[in-house]
Amino acid sequence: MVRIIASRQAVLTVRLASGDLVVTVRNIRRHGRFVKARFPLMAGNWKMHGDHLQAVAQVQKLASALSAKDFDCSEVAVLPPFTSLRGVQTLVDGDKLRIAYGAQDLSPHDSGAYTGEVSGPMLAELGCRYVLAGHFEVRQSGQHVAYTLGQLDGSLDGVPAPAVASLVIAYEPVWAIGTGEVATAEDAQEAASAIRSQISVVHGPETAGSVRILYGGSVKVSNIAPIMAQPDVDGALVGGASLDAGQFAQICRYRELSVS
Ligand code: PEP
Repeated sequence: MVRIIASRQAVLTVRLASGDLVVTVRNIRRHGRFVKARFPLMAGNWKMHGDHLQAVAQVQKLASALSAKDFDCSEVAVLPPFTSLRGVQTLVDGDKLRIAYGAQDLSPHDSGAYTGEVSGPMLAELGCRYVLAGHFEVRQSGQHVAYTLGQLDGSLDGVPAPAVASLVIAYEPVWAIGTGEVATAEDAQEAASAIRSQISVVHGPETAGSVRILYGGSVKVSNIAPIMAQPDVDGALVGGASLDAGQFAQICRYRELSVS
């Protein structure tokens, strides 16, 4: 089942209530800059790793490992646990870092009696630029691109084209998440291209040309370059390898790595 809810801030909430291969990372920034269309995005999903002090230290390490040129070439984002967001915000704002940050989930509600939930407006107040929606660690496994496209249609049904254009969609083969097994660059391209074509059919070519599509699933320094060389892959959702600031920085500098 898919629920799509527009909040007061026109923040669209897309949640998949069943297993999925498609994860949407959505731009929820209410104020401030938006990145240009299809600017590469390298997003680190830290899952339930580290406390707030470790998160701040990780962001400091990442910021010092990356140069101004690196930030000119790619947008870098981290998605720490909720408890680290305020610490990361204080650091990023105080040191004027060019690292974006976001959360790993959000409530479909703006506020109310929903114990344990965190809303889009709360995250926006904390300066979150992104939030993961629909990322389940335990998924029903779909075997092919058609399954993924079915999920995509369900997720985006009723979402207006301008909102779709600002989404980031991550294609993550379930067998590749946290396993060390990575899709081939060709397979990542096939899926990304199919997702873009489907968006073009449903929401128009302009929207399809703007939406960023990431590959996720065991991305490492050793495999990122050929994946990023694919024309429809606009970035990566990086789990385990993003927990090491040095490795994540190298992944963000994929342009310097050999494609072969
Ligand atoms: C993820 O869970 O989004 C992910 C891509 O994890 P990993 O890189 O560890 O496979």
